[in-house]
Amino acid sequence: MPFLDSPGRCVYCAATDGLTNEHIIPASLGGKLILESSSCLNCQRITGRFEEIVARNMYWPLRLSLGIRGGRKRKKKAPTHWRGIVVDDETGQEDSFEIEVGKFPRFYATVEMPPPGIINDLPPTDKSPELKLYLKADREGLKAFVESLGASSYEIGLNWRWDAFNQLLAKIAHAYSAGLAGFDGIEYLLPPLIVGGSACFSYLIGGIDDPSQELEPPADIQLNYRKIRGELYLSVKTTIFGNKRFPTYEIISGRITDLDLVRRKIAVAQEHIARDNAVSRANAESAPGEFLRADP
Ligand SMILES: [Zn+2]
Repeated sequence: MPFLDSPGRCVYCAATDGLTNEHIIPASLGGKLILESSSCLNCQRITGRFEEIVARNMYWPLRLSLGIRGGRKRKKKAPTHWRGIVVDDETGQEDSFEIEVGKFPRFYATVEMPPPGIINDLPPTDKSPELKLYLKADREGLKAFVESLGASSYEIGLNWRWDAFNQLLAKIAHAYSAGLAGFDGIEYLLPPLIVGGSACFSYLIGGIDDPSQELEPPADIQLNYRKIRGELYLSVKTTIFGNKRFPTYEIISGRITDLDLVRRKIAVAQEHIARDNAVSRANAESAPGEFLRADP
């Protein structure tokens, strides 16, 4: 497992007691990179809640099809099969069935968003911008699966929570930025969206306009500098689950106040993680991400 050294404090609230390791992209969504001792228990409870909504309520069918089992509370031995229930809608009779992990047909939704409002000088707002929702499914696989159960039709409930999904993107971007760039020389912008109750997500979180800017698998996260109206910001691009299943999102994580400090800190972290990645690749783990593309 590749990891980043502890920043010595909770990255969300600055507490220094009882720090726990933090997966930057949650393990329950396929993330591998860990930021050591970086979240206090209270913040972990808050981030755990929206991570769970995204992983369990929104993306359970995709996790099932990909065989992703990771999660904070899951310390038991990984199951090899999942149990489901078939209901006869005429008689109401219920039958249970089992399906092998990784054999569940793919089914999920992705959402395209406009770029973060700050880039286009839009005011912060707690309203959701215009979104494009895509349903993606392995149609043949679904049909075969339903037939194998002896059923003739199916219903899949799909929960999509705008707030939880954005909180998750904010958390990923903030933890990655803080892990690489530290806390000196940056004014961080995302904690109010993660643990502070602000819902002005679309100002700092959005999609990308230019398809050539999409992350290339296996990279699932990347830190960049971005100039906005003469000021320099840290920006994180990320996608979850990898393999181009999801659009690339861009999240503006902080305003840089001392570029030299930030640069030095990032260079050290990059070197460390590059070494660590080499080890993980040797162990046939997938690469966790990339670093700084644009140099200001
Ligand atoms: Zn905290």
